Amino acid sequence: MNPFNDLGIRHDIVNAISALGFENPTPIQEQSIPVLLTGSNDFVGLAQTGTGKTAAFGLPLLELLDFEENYPQALVLCPTRELCLQITNDLKNYSKNMRNVNVVAVYGGASISDQLRTIKRGVQIVVATPGRMLDIINRKAIDFSQVKFVVLDEADEMLNMGFQEDIDSILSTTPDEKKTWLFSATMPSEVRRIAKKYMDNPFELTMGEKNTGNQNIDHEYYVVRARDKYAAFKRIVDFNPDIFGIVFCRTKIETQEIAESLVKDGYNADSLHGDLSQQQRDKVMKRYRDRSLQLLIATDVAARGIDVNNVTHVINYSLPDEIENYTHRSGRTARAGKSGVSIAIINSKELGKIRSIERVIGKKFIKAEIPTGFDVCEKQLFGLIKKVHNVEVNEQQIEQYLPRIMNEFADLSKEDIIKRFASLEFNSFLEYYKNAPDLNAPADDRMGRDGERGERGERAPRGGNTDYTRLFINLGSVDGFSRGDLLGYICNTAKISGRVVGKIDVKGVFSFFEVPNEEVTAVNSGFVGANFEGREVRIEVAGEGSSERREGGSPRGERRSYSGGNGGGGYRGNNGGGERRERPAGGERREGGGGFRDFSGKRKEGGTGERRRRF
Ligand code: AMP
Repeated sequence: MNPFNDLGIRHDIVNAISALGFENPTPIQEQSIPVLLTGSNDFVGLAQTGTGKTAAFGLPLLELLDFEENYPQALVLCPTRELCLQITNDLKNYSKNMRNVNVVAVYGGASISDQLRTIKRGVQIVVATPGRMLDIINRKAIDFSQVKFVVLDEADEMLNMGFQEDIDSILSTTPDEKKTWLFSATMPSEVRRIAKKYMDNPFELTMGEKNTGNQNIDHEYYVVRARDKYAAFKRIVDFNPDIFGIVFCRTKIETQEIAESLVKDGYNADSLHGDLSQQQRDKVMKRYRDRSLQLLIATDVAARGIDVNNVTHVINYSLPDEIENYTHRSGRTARAGKSGVSIAIINSKELGKIRSIERVIGKKFIKAEIPTGFDVCEKQLFGLIKKVHNVEVNEQQIEQYLPRIMNEFADLSKEDIIKRFASLEFNSFLEYYKNAPDLNAPADDRMGRDGERGERGERAPRGGNTDYTRLFINLGSVDGFSRGDLLGYICNTAKISGRVVGKIDVKGVFSFFEVPNEEVTAVNSGFVGANFEGREVRIEVAGEGSSERREGGSPRGERRSYSGGNGGGGYRGNNGGGERRERPAGGERREGGGGFRDFSGKRKEGGTGERRRRF
């Protein structure tokens, strides 16, 4: 007997959810289903995304509504198109064995006439984002006068996105006697206020501590200098060969730049932000869901409602402006009982923000060290060995080639063959990380000594650290130089210490390297008359606007997927000029009131007023 039967769910529904793999109720389902099944309570559930809350309200709805009748009896409001589709799909799956269950998804960015037609045919459950719902109400195309239940899902997100007024207007068309069930990951005072406004003595359920994030998430932070941020980020990714992650940036531009740089460096990444059309967004999400993409680079708004299981890492490339958003970000991992890691890459000035987040999530961060180049190589090597060990062999296809392959290897021992296979990818990592510097910010940075520089260099990965000058040299790999060789050559010729040389980017017939501004003259004079194998060696300050990134390439081939996906291609170029106001996934968010000041005191667009908690 399935334990859902004990909770009071009927057999045909239990059979359907069993087929979905629901063997045991999640804690929120266990505690809320019996309460909601009575149909006589207002309800407030404080629960993270990924805890099974869709079934927690969805199963009771399917029990309580009268499906012999074809008028709207339940309205589920949620913040994004993605979540709207997800809930609709879940409800359809749960009710697969029931007759005459009609659910409509109402959301912006899609044809309104199709939605109106479905409504006209008769529906019992409407799942909607507020903007489009209000539009349909204003067209007098729906009658909510007999609605029995309203669900406000991810209420904090809806308020965060400025939907308060829309929600008020929508709810005013529903009867007073309806029951309201509210779910929220956090309980800021605005959510409290709407709970008070719409509910009568609600049954309150808190899963875990208030405002506390999912306990299955480990939180880690890395302190790096701002100019090293991108390199540090790549190193973290390289250290986790099986990463399936979401990387959060603060702006669309940053999102796009990081994704572009990653693709260029051979990583399997793409970006998700408000400037993409719905079609583009769907395409990116499909690739991510299918795991053809390994890294999804996203803004907070675009990532709302993303429900993808098995995300291993959430990376805060930039910390969010609002503490609550950290909870939303990290909640994208460790879903459905899994565990996950939420990483913040910060500079020394941001330690205070980490402490503020700790207070809100009620959990300590672990201070982690950026792995050394050696650590990365070792991890990659054994990741590769594991992959070779576990790879599925297509016996039929490979058979025809085996005699030839065996022949090719005839002169090699088993040990030699293993060494060669292992070296195939390992060599590129070894080469790349051979002279890799320590990217952890030195301890005295934590006192803020280097903070100024760090903050100014924040625009990584596009270079621009004002303390360093990027120099061009007309020697490169065709001249037999590796990064290490070039470092040695520069130091010997210019008579400078290797410690002062920054990033070295070895290209084919030329290379780039960085030195502190005050060393440029010394380097130039050191190279006067320099000559390499009969060729004059030229040093120049690298042109402004050079498209070369200062972080110096990648151990991976250009545009090569290392996870067997489709190669990380398909990146669309920057399609926007200045930073525009971010819009939510459904493309229908009302502009939030006013704007706000972020913690740096600068004015920022696109907020929902001054209410949210800030660092
Ligand atoms: P939700 O919080 O509703 O978005 O659910 C998160 C994920 O957990 C979804 O993929 C659900 O299909 C899955 N899920 C929900 N309830 C259960 C359950 N009782 N057993 C197994 N998986 C579940």
